Amino acid sequence: MLEEFNAAARLLDLEPGIWKVLTHPKRQIVVSCPVEMDSGDVEVFTGYRVQYNIALGPAKGGIRFHPTVALDEVTALAAWMTWKCAVAQVPFGGGKGGVACDPTRMSRRELERLTRRYIAEIVDAIGPDKDIPAPDVNTNDQVMAWVMDTYSMHVGATTTAVVTGKPIELGGSAGRRDATGRGVSIVAREAARHVGFEVAGSRVAIQGFGNVGSVSAVLLQRMGARIVAVTDWKGGVYDERGLDVDAMVEYARQHRTIEGFSGGQPLTNDELFRLDADILVPAALENQITMTNACDVRARLVIEGANGPTTPEAHRVLHERGVFVVPDIVANAGGVTASYFEWVQNRHGYFWSEEEVNERLERRIMTAFETVVKTARRYRVDLRTAAYVVAIDRVATVTRMRGMYA
Ligand code: NAD
Repeated sequence: MLEEFNAAARLLDLEPGIWKVLTHPKRQIVVSCPVEMDSGDVEVFTGYRVQYNIALGPAKGGIRFHPTVALDEVTALAAWMTWKCAVAQVPFGGGKGGVACDPTRMSRRELERLTRRYIAEIVDAIGPDKDIPAPDVNTNDQVMAWVMDTYSMHVGATTTAVVTGKPIELGGSAGRRDATGRGVSIVAREAARHVGFEVAGSRVAIQGFGNVGSVSAVLLQRMGARIVAVTDWKGGVYDERGLDVDAMVEYARQHRTIEGFSGGQPLTNDELFRLDADILVPAALENQITMTNACDVRARLVIEGANGPTTPEAHRVLHERGVFVVPDIVANAGGVTASYFEWVQNRHGYFWSEEEVNERLERRIMTAFETVVKTARRYRVDLRTAAYVVAIDRVATVTRMRGMYA
């Protein structure tokens, strides 16, 4: 994060004081969460919430449940949220939270007790005007419902706007589920036009077939693209003529993987990155395009659906080889943009139709993409550096206007 930040800050000639402010997290909270397990034993889990920067508005960012959650990781993720919100022009700062735990070994009741205790421990730090959590790795709309309920019990009033990614029945927004993949498909369409081809008729390879990967596949196919390859944690499939994406969605729903899908030939992750496709969408994990495979990427466009799928060195290689990379903080900003819409609707107590959500989302994603492309031209840099330039400039400007308190 700091490497990416420094490159852009130098271009902006950022003054040392603001540089220091923007590279220090505003607030880091560490809490111990005692939970009675189903066995009757008590376990103590460590939870974190980091509010990296709140110059533009309340902190915004997901809650992650994973054994490797640690303060450094949560801090870096909170910083990324700061730049993502700034680039997408949503009036939020950056936050992130997490609990070090293994949810795959916990019952639903244990997860509920852990969620409630974790939220009770950080209840004074969050709120619709302070910090608004959302789902992240291993947390979902049910967990967000528990977050909302716990907070509401503490303040004595139903407060839907304290968290986003809720079930629709409980104040969630229409269109939120598909928003990240929708953003990815819009950015892919615009980026293709920018480099001189149309998505319709192009060949697309996608890593990951979860929320982001599968929705991107469905929507890109609707735009006329041929989805020629998809992989997930277990395996993958390939068909030069184009895969039947709807059938794959149904297969993945039943089998929790696309391995074994009969509508194509088997394919490994390594092979996916080397494929002769026009567009490559990494939509699974971080650090997937590295120095070992960056030279083999043959796609003209890489659209980063996942967070941090390309290492900084690999990104340099892609850029030098003329591969056009749309960075994560632009390509997957559809998710946080729809979260912002959810928060707005909760505060108004008035809900929009899915069409309204999608229309507004498209306008915002296109504006963000165009602004970053213009900035890249102006500074003669790649899109990632340009996205940071846009984000840092916005946060720095507001920081100067607000001044240093006390
Ligand atoms: P998900 O859990 O729904 O899906 C993840 C997919 O990645 C699954 O298909 C899984 O099988 C696959 N995968 C896991 N390990 C893999 C491996 N080693 N090789 C190949 N595939 C592997 O998650 P998601 O919500 O789709 O998120 C995917 C990425 O997008 C993450 O980096 C996430 O942080 C990012 N993201 C998600 C959202 C969102 O709204 N869901 C928003 C912004 C960014």
